[in-house]
Amino acid sequence: MTSRQDIRTFAAYYICMNKFELLGLNEALLKAISDMGFETPSEVQEKAIPVLLQEDTDMVALAQTGTGKTAAFGFPLIQKIDINSKRTQGLILSPTRELCLQITNELKNYSKYAKGLNTVAIYGGASITDQASQIRRGAQIIVATPGRMQDMVNRKLVDISAIEYCILDEADEMLNMGFYEDITEILSHTPAEKNTWLFSATMPKEVATIAKKFMRTPVEITVGTKNMGTSNVSHEYYVVNARDRYAALKRLSDANPDIFSVVFCRTKRDTQKVAEQLIEDGYNAAAIHGDLSQNQRDLVMKSFRSRQIQMLVATDVAARGIDVEDITHVINYQLPDEPEIYTHRSGRTGRAGKSGVSMVIVSKSEVRKIKTIERVIGQTFERKEIPDGREICEVQLFHLANEINKTEINHEIDRYLPSINELFEGLSKEEILKKFFSVEFTRFFNYYNKAQDLNAKVSGDAYEDQGDSTRFFINVGAKDDFDWMSLKDFLKATLNLERDEVNRVEVKDSFSFFNVDSSKAEEVIKIFEDFKHQGRHVNVEITKKSSGKDRGRKPFKGKEKRSYGKSASGGDAPKGRRRSSDAPTSGRRRSSEAPSEGRKNKKSGGKKKSIESSINRRRSKK
Ligand code: ADP
Ligand code: MG
Repeated sequence: MTSRQDIRTFAAYYICMNKFELLGLNEALLKAISDMGFETPSEVQEKAIPVLLQEDTDMVALAQTGTGKTAAFGFPLIQKIDINSKRTQGLILSPTRELCLQITNELKNYSKYAKGLNTVAIYGGASITDQASQIRRGAQIIVATPGRMQDMVNRKLVDISAIEYCILDEADEMLNMGFYEDITEILSHTPAEKNTWLFSATMPKEVATIAKKFMRTPVEITVGTKNMGTSNVSHEYYVVNARDRYAALKRLSDANPDIFSVVFCRTKRDTQKVAEQLIEDGYNAAAIHGDLSQNQRDLVMKSFRSRQIQMLVATDVAARGIDVEDITHVINYQLPDEPEIYTHRSGRTGRAGKSGVSMVIVSKSEVRKIKTIERVIGQTFERKEIPDGREICEVQLFHLANEINKTEINHEIDRYLPSINELFEGLSKEEILKKFFSVEFTRFFNYYNKAQDLNAKVSGDAYEDQGDSTRFFINVGAKDDFDWMSLKDFLKATLNLERDEVNRVEVKDSFSFFNVDSSKAEEVIKIFEDFKHQGRHVNVEITKKSSGKDRGRKPFKGKEKRSYGKSASGGDAPKGRRRSSDAPTSGRRRSSEAPSEGRKNKKSGGKKKSIESSINRRRSKK
């Protein structure tokens, strides 16, 4: 290196690095930091690094994802490691293979001028012998997932009996994923006098328990607001008759066209059965459970990750360690045996600051278990109703309309346009639209037209009776920056109602639903008759009346302009054509063959009821 280069490097280094220097970091680290282009320490780094460098202490640090927690523990750890010794001194536990590799990579960057420092990653799904030999060559720092680490400790392939630093990274995630026992086991092989640093985005009860159990008077650092955990997951339950469980699952899926979910069953057999049924009914589903080979499981996970599978049906054991981002819904097809397991399930969604929904399908006799779970998770459930056919048709229709609206025009179409135009000559735009949408709409309409109400009537305290209320459709949604809370406020203000008078607000992308007491229904319609929000005409219509007794659907009182309403009730829609199964589809269904629920209901509608009531009679005699 020439002296001029030296000076330039030094100048750049001096100008950029003084902030990090103030934290007490050594030259090797500062140089690496400069190479990485970090200019100023993040808040969690500023708070954690000096403390960890100067004291031998335990620490609990809470900071949101993306705030630089890796460097907050990584810099001090690297500086404190004795490079002259080959012995394993630091252990970092991290929830997933991806994070494990990410952290290892970061640490390698941080320590690139700390010659002789070795960091090794230990995670499942890769050769354990390779990993063991890497460790034998000397690893002062091990970054591991709890499952594989536990395995290697048991097989005596690692020695962590003399570590000085143990870092629990993304502790909330690790606990969500069911790693509590592994962590406890692993820690029992480490010396009592080590320092434990716990990093987490949120502080649910379980993390607090771990902190209390494994740490001595930790220094606490909080960046931003202290997040109490899974608060971005909302919990819902649906009460159905046990034999309607599967039909309910399909409805929940159909009512959420963009669903990307894990469906939990209790046994391997049920898992396999539900997945097979879903596949048969045309959903993009697959099962994952312990009877599959590792290779099969890897394949399933690969298709799930790449979204070829929208519904992954899983046992609790197999789902442990599923680290897929952006899961929109967790569906508890059956409740877990232990209420604690529910947390692991629901923790699969609502990660990384995103919101998620955890749904539970219960039979009447299981409703009381919801209360137990509420106590365990410290959050309340909302009782919701399995959407009726009309609602699903609406959701699907608007979903399609949105998809079409978003679609980029493929100009390859242009040359076919003359022939297409010729075909549609004489049809108005409205007629073409009606026909176009009917292609898809009729499929759902035919299937759901006569679909029965799947909600079991429940009396007692677990069920808040909604009385005689009316469900409304409104053509504003998430696209207009509403979430359920702000829409509720908006409705309350516009309709001049109290908070609890507007219920069951459900916000979809471009439209929403809400309930208001039926006595106020006319008023609602009147207020919205000629109403504009941000210059746009707001359209509100009655979807259905729901009361204890009368759950029958009311025909649309809609205005002319809702063409699909008209064509649906008018029955002039063209018959759905069967799409070939290899045709590209925007939705989840691979074939246009409708699932069989509706047909079955049609046939056995009358009979079912009498069976149901006789069961009820028998029950009440007991
Ligand atoms: P967390 O663990 O809190 O989710 P990470 O440690 O993964 O966050 O850091 C997120 C990203 O920010 C990484 O790409 C990291 O390299 C980068 N980063 C961390 N600290 C700084 C910093 N002080 N300046 C610039 N980038 C940083
Ligand atoms: Mg992190």
